[in-house]
Amino acid sequence: MKRCLWCESSKVTDTKQTVYWELPDGLRAIEITNTPSVSCAECQMVYQEEEVVEAIEDQLFLIDTSRLARTITYEELMNEPRRLKRNYFK
Ligand SMILES: [Zn+2]
Repeated sequence: MKRCLWCESSKVTDTKQTVYWELPDGLRAIEITNTPSVSCAECQMVYQEEEVVEAIEDQLFLIDTSRLARTITYEELMNEPRRLKRNYFK
């Protein structure tokens, strides 16, 4: 069973949230809507799981972020064409 990363409660539910993400160049941030998130009823924490954070970080690194609009859905972001096949800098 899934447990809250912060308080280890099992009262967690999957949710979609809008998050603000700083681009790798650090010059601006974008808004990512519908981001898979976890919400905890016990400690009220809403957060993204490690896999999601990594998926976003990787994707932002691999796509041409200068073409991104200020707001994008998580799905649109993940469907952006990649310039590199993988993150060679990891
Ligand atoms: Zn919690």
